[in-house]
Amino acid sequence: MNSKSQSTISAVNHALLWLRADLRVTDNTALNYAIASGLPVIAVYIVTPMQWYQHHISGRQIDLIERRLHVVKQQLNDINIPLLVVECHDFSTVPATIATLCQQHQISAVYCNRQHPWNEKQRDFAVEQALIAQDRQWHCVDDYCVLPPGSVLTQQQKMYKVFTPYRNAWLKQFLSYNYQPVTNSDKVTFSQHCLNLLEGKSKVNGDIQTFNYSKQDSLLWPVDESAIQQRLQMFCETKAEYYQQQRDFPAIDGTSCLSPYLAIGALSARQCLAALMEALPQCVEINKQNGAFVWLSEVIWREFYNHLLDSYGRLSKHQPFQLYTHHVRWLENSDHLHAWQQGKTGFPIVDAAMRQLATTGWMHNRLRMISASFLVKDMLCDWRIGEQWFMQQLIDGELASNNGGWQWAASTGTDAQPYFRVFNPTTQSERFDPNGEFIRQWVPELQYVPDKYIHSPSLWSGFGDVDYPLPIVDHKQMRLLAIDSYKQAKTCY
Ligand code: FAD
Repeated sequence: MNSKSQSTISAVNHALLWLRADLRVTDNTALNYAIASGLPVIAVYIVTPMQWYQHHISGRQIDLIERRLHVVKQQLNDINIPLLVVECHDFSTVPATIATLCQQHQISAVYCNRQHPWNEKQRDFAVEQALIAQDRQWHCVDDYCVLPPGSVLTQQQKMYKVFTPYRNAWLKQFLSYNYQPVTNSDKVTFSQHCLNLLEGKSKVNGDIQTFNYSKQDSLLWPVDESAIQQRLQMFCETKAEYYQQQRDFPAIDGTSCLSPYLAIGALSARQCLAALMEALPQCVEINKQNGAFVWLSEVIWREFYNHLLDSYGRLSKHQPFQLYTHHVRWLENSDHLHAWQQGKTGFPIVDAAMRQLATTGWMHNRLRMISASFLVKDMLCDWRIGEQWFMQQLIDGELASNNGGWQWAASTGTDAQPYFRVFNPTTQSERFDPNGEFIRQWVPELQYVPDKYIHSPSLWSGFGDVDYPLPIVDHKQMRLLAIDSYKQAKTCY
């Protein structure tokens, strides 16, 4: 540090809030701790384009993060906390970057919320070592899940492998846990150095440049606080009650669509549950299959997958949970893969789903299950290829839930779909989009196909005039082949 920059910093020590997947000011545990330290707080967000590239983060999620950072910067400014945005090539240079920031800004303690994927844990360990070497404090706290990973265990102190007992244990603990979100509205102590940063007078003020990464617009998801909170409240007050009846029908707007916010931390799971409990306090009664309880269970699936990811490092490395499935012999058919990615498989429900994904970056949960099952069981394509494609496309891409969802569909995960139970894409379509309303929305070339044939248009006598492909596979044949391949894999294990 040269003497000139030193003279611009007051002698006061500062706390550094390192924002990651927690882009919010309300109910942010690390922020609360940083404020409670009594030190003036400076916040930083580190952009790592190479890491994003390697981990297939979608252009839409990057756009969402960038838009959200502008909101967070303003909210932090309002309570006297300047936000710096710094770019690092990849994770390996993050420890040195944090150490340099600490020197530049006279930071005595760093606060952040824990992340659960393996690479992030390794990165944090390296940062902690770098800070200890400089005699600075490191406070990495639990926040991403309602109940911290490692806190919901069997009597043998092991991680649950089956969801229902996990959910029961989770609920028991939840009821005795203070999950009430904390809101910060008071102005935080600040220093002259903070003031200089807030007013843009200091040269080291990193602004939110346009991220150097290919982006796709995320405008379907507003990022201002009131819009996000309103969406949550509106869902809890008017839709949660009907969630159980409506959640499986993609043509109905029956789910919350909050996943993009949860993935980047613009909303916390605690905030979701607090809003739900306020609107429908009876929802936690086990065995009462009310809509709100089913929604609560979905949030608990998110907890389950994150707890699993934290316990089993191999999940972050895209290894199957069921080790025997390493031996499944996948087929490599690039034409089929391309057809799946483009929404041109000749199975209308799969194609509608894949086109919704390509156009909006989001896909309905029922369709995620159908299209994932199709890739793995009807195309016998390695699930990791689908997992990666989803991450590249999804605005709500989140390692734990995406990996969990894919391993569930591929029958490679814990408490997954048994390998011999294979979704039939046509009957799924008949059941969950009975009149083809969703299909017609996303596959307009099928608009005039009669209802009777909308799920299997190639059987319609007028199909010759429709610009739509024949089915790329025979479901019955592929089902048998898939079951046989899993069986063989089991015998060689
Ligand atoms: P709602 O139905 O309103 O549920 C509320 C919240 O609960 C969601 O926002 C989400 O945070 C959580 N949730 C709901 N269902 C699940 C589930 N099955 N597993 C874990 N959490 C759940 N979810 C992601 O957030 N990111 C992903 O990358 C992702 N990839 C998936 C891939 C596959 C193959 C499958 C089958 C599922 C995947 N899911 C993923 C889970 C689920 O599809 C989405 O969370 C859900 O569709 C988001 O819509 P929503 O916000 O309207 O959910």
